[in-house]
Amino acid sequence: MKIHNFSAGPSILNEKVIENAAEAVRSFADTGLSLIEVSHRGKQFTAVIEECRKLFLELIEAPAGYDVVFLGGGASLQFYMAPLNFLKTKAAYIDTGTWASNAIKEAKLVGDVEVLASSKADTYTWYPELGKDYTVPSDVDYFHVTSNNTIYGTQLHKDLDVNVPLIADMSSDIFSRPVDVSKYDLIYGGAQKNLAPAGVTFAVVKLDALGKVDRPLPTMLNYKTHVDKESMFNTPPVFPIYVALQTLKWYKEMGGVKGMQKMCEEKAAVLYNAIDSSKIFRGTVRECDRSLMNVCFVMKDEYKELEAEFQKFATERGMSGIKGHRSVGGFRASLYNALPLESVKALVDAMKAFEAKI
Ligand SMILES: *Cc1c(COP(=O)(O)O)cnc(C)c1O
Repeated sequence: MKIHNFSAGPSILNEKVIENAAEAVRSFADTGLSLIEVSHRGKQFTAVIEECRKLFLELIEAPAGYDVVFLGGGASLQFYMAPLNFLKTKAAYIDTGTWASNAIKEAKLVGDVEVLASSKADTYTWYPELGKDYTVPSDVDYFHVTSNNTIYGTQLHKDLDVNVPLIADMSSDIFSRPVDVSKYDLIYGGAQKNLAPAGVTFAVVKLDALGKVDRPLPTMLNYKTHVDKESMFNTPPVFPIYVALQTLKWYKEMGGVKGMQKMCEEKAAVLYNAIDSSKIFRGTVRECDRSLMNVCFVMKDEYKELEAEFQKFATERGMSGIKGHRSVGGFRASLYNALPLESVKALVDAMKAFEAKI
């Protein structure tokens, strides 16, 4: 039976990408050795990381003056590293979910933090709207957003117009829509949602914005260290970087970010339509804020006791990873770039079949 992978992270990778990665683990380039046992300074791997860097910047359409670095520590280390490098006195954040609130907590260790808006009181079921729910003061060093809330299933669908630099955690929606990189001083994310296996973190940095804080920075937590050494200051996570390159090549083949966006919109529409037309399921977040990446839904109150039964029913039909996050309950289907439309259709079929039989 085909297993459909709706896992929120680590998550689905394209089949061909996995095959290429498996092949490189057996035999890498012309080394006669495995990818995971050769020097990262050998010419074969330096070619990989160089191509990965170039293709990343090309696909995200970064203007001149930006670079991308590949780091360890996950997005969670970026929650601290970003303020360390960019926060002089005060930064502004919005609290739009668990990851945003974790980012706020770390920034407070570094300087003053103004939380401009929060949807926490409504269990993060909506995304605060600029101009309506909050404005960004002009005296902050940057404004931090979490573009997609992986756990609660809300998403900021655009690049905001504010008069301070933006910093964004794009862990779970990078490469799913075109981004105006020029608005950001920093875009970061763990790669394990839309790019690679766990173990590598990307950071797209505006070079001009670096070196503006007075505090001494630990070498490893200074973006400049990694920019200057092209992510080779220390041993980079070679395997995830290799897989990231395979994913980026696949993106390019599929029409780049615009191609991905089209597929993501189509997949999300299929699932949200099924939820909205269902007698037993309902979505959990405000419609205009619905995430194209993480679709959260529950059973309507009168059918609530059937959730465990549907979970079992869907699992028997090959649906994997649709259990909602423990803080939300119900179901969450993650529709990352690599998930084929057929998987979404299989889930919708399972929902309809279940509804028909109850
Ligand atoms: C998964 C996720 C994180 C955490 O990433 P780690 O790499 O595990 O630290 C942070 N932010 C968002 C939006 C996420 O989806």
